[in-house]
Amino acid sequence: MLPRNRYPCYQARGAQGTGGNARSSRWPPSQSSPWFGKEGIQRLASYRDATLVSSPKPPVVWAFLFVPASKDLASRTKKNMPLLDKFGRQIYDLRVSVTDRCNFRCVYCRSANPENNMAEHALLEWDEYERLVKILVGMGIRKVRVTGGEPLVRPGVEEFIARLKKLGVQDLSMTTNGHLLVDRLDALVAAGLDRINISLDSLNKEKFEQVTRTKTFDQVMAGIEAARASSLRPVKVNAVLVRGLNDDEVEAFAEFAREKDIVMRFIEFMPLDADRAWNRDLMVPAAEVYKRISAKWPLIPVVHERSETARKYRFADSGGEIGLIAPVTQPFCGHCSRIRLTADGKLRTCLFSKDDHDLKSLLRGPATDREIGDAIHAIVDQKEKGHRINEPDFVAPSRTMVFIGG
Ligand code: SAM
Ligand code: SF4
Repeated sequence: MLPRNRYPCYQARGAQGTGGNARSSRWPPSQSSPWFGKEGIQRLASYRDATLVSSPKPPVVWAFLFVPASKDLASRTKKNMPLLDKFGRQIYDLRVSVTDRCNFRCVYCRSANPENNMAEHALLEWDEYERLVKILVGMGIRKVRVTGGEPLVRPGVEEFIARLKKLGVQDLSMTTNGHLLVDRLDALVAAGLDRINISLDSLNKEKFEQVTRTKTFDQVMAGIEAARASSLRPVKVNAVLVRGLNDDEVEAFAEFAREKDIVMRFIEFMPLDADRAWNRDLMVPAAEVYKRISAKWPLIPVVHERSETARKYRFADSGGEIGLIAPVTQPFCGHCSRIRLTADGKLRTCLFSKDDHDLKSLLRGPATDREIGDAIHAIVDQKEKGHRINEPDFVAPSRTMVFIGG
């Protein structure tokens, strides 16, 4: 493991008194810098007093410089401290799985054979989700994606979206297979949903039915149209490419993005399928997708947040965008800002974590919000450096995608 003091963000947290070696070698001694060390703080204090007398508003910089010296802040609970892992990554993105149930059986996700669903009482209640998300928003979570299983099969998800919005979640999105979307969309928008991702693995009806093991192509296409006609933006459509199954449709999907002016995202198949059929030959690398699309239409890179999973491109000559999500061939773990809450109340620090961490028993026991916040900090501190899919000793997690929430 790399030493903690190589991560400036971690040091910033350490400097606020939450553990760590903040004043380590990275901080210059007071002689070489007038603003650090004990003398520096005294100097700043007298300068601040002088400034406060002469200026009605203290400069914003004081708020930052005096954090380490503030007694109030030092005594703050961890519950309100931003979530930073030991590698300095700030965690602000939460995926919430609201169910392990799904009305599809996509070949790359679920098995054709019925799995055992979790018992109803094992699933978190809406109130329990709300309490946890509230605690997490207080710790800096600003993006929440509601997922599953299929989130729209759980009754009450619209009300849950409204409750999340009231908590102050800034970016509230949902990933859905789209089957039930047409009838539910207005309520989701009214509840405050900001964005939507809809899965569509083939533009060919027969093949779609083969992939999802359902006969719902027309409903899903209608769901995409309804989303386009709504106020939700951007509308993103996700396709997991599997070699020999739908990889012949890369150009057709790109054409679909251009015609419909949507974001078409290509996701590399990951070893999270229930049948354990994944192998490298079945995965279509994002570089191949880029090469094939850019050979037909010039692509222009779109600026994205470093922690975003997709590398984004727009078409030089039309509307529409493509997103390439390459967790296998171009892992983005170094900038990961995500944690995941499963439907049975487990917190996961990575899709590929070997273990998850039980929060449900804390929620159902006497723990206070502060204690739960402390537990979350301790869990995030264990976030893995990366997923290790490409390591020779990689072992797929026991939970598959439908149980984790994508
Ligand atoms: N049921 C919803 C849906 O399909 O959109 C939400 C849950 S699903 C687990 C979330 C996302 O994970 C979907 O975009 C799906 O295509 C993707 N996914 C499922 N299994 C996958 C796998 N083995 N590799 C890559 N992506 C996968
Ligand atoms: Fe269901 Fe989504 Fe998995 Fe397909 S990808 S089986 S729709 S959870």
